[in-house]
Amino acid sequence: MDSYYVNRNPQRNGEHEVHRSICSHLPSKENLIPLGTFTDCVDAIIAAKKLFPTVDGCMYCCYECHHH
Ligand SMILES: [Zn+2]
Repeated sequence: MDSYYVNRNPQRNGEHEVHRSICSHLPSKENLIPLGTFTDCVDAIIAAKKLFPTVDGCMYCCYECHHH
């Protein structure tokens, strides 16, 4: 289980990145919206999609959910 966050600010491509709490590339705290605790990034992505229409897993901490 891990805590997941979504970046309030979109990337240049319009996607909001989802991160795990342990990510070394977390955006600054004021831009993080907590999503809750999940067993994997798939559920975190579902939660993030309720907030933003286009989301993507972080390449570093949510590689399985990152668009390749
Ligand atoms: Zn990350």
